[in-house]
Amino acid sequence: MSEIPAIRSRKLEITYNIPISKTKKFWDELREGKIYATKCKKCGRLYFPPVADCGECYSSEVEWVELSGEGELLTFTHIIVRPTSFQDQQPYTVAIAQLKEGVKALAWLTDVKKKDIKIGMRVKLVPKVFEDGRVAYEFKPAEKKK
Ligand SMILES: [Zn+2]
Repeated sequence: MSEIPAIRSRKLEITYNIPISKTKKFWDELREGKIYATKCKKCGRLYFPPVADCGECYSSEVEWVELSGEGELLTFTHIIVRPTSFQDQQPYTVAIAQLKEGVKALAWLTDVKKKDIKIGMRVKLVPKVFEDGRVAYEFKPAEKKK
């Protein structure tokens, strides 16, 4: 068995430009501290993260709806063995919460000790702007009512 002559390239780091033309508003609003979902004008289905076309009735007639971000923790998992692109991160927690408006959201859960995370706890989905300008969103424990 002969090997094909080859030289090994250096390790490449790849970044993508993800097309966001139809959901650009979502990213712009995140930067302003607001969380938006899209709602199908035809069948009323709510989508988070926002989508340009309804997967339920295939309508492209969607409208923007601002979310409160308030939700209840449904499930979570601690990620110890991180994917390559997250090697520089500390172990983190990924959670799914049911938002007040009726959609589920998946995001990191931060600002809470592992032992204090409980199914059913109140969480708030908040925008996060990174130092390099990227935007994302994450869950934080909701403020306790006095
Ligand atoms: Zn629809």
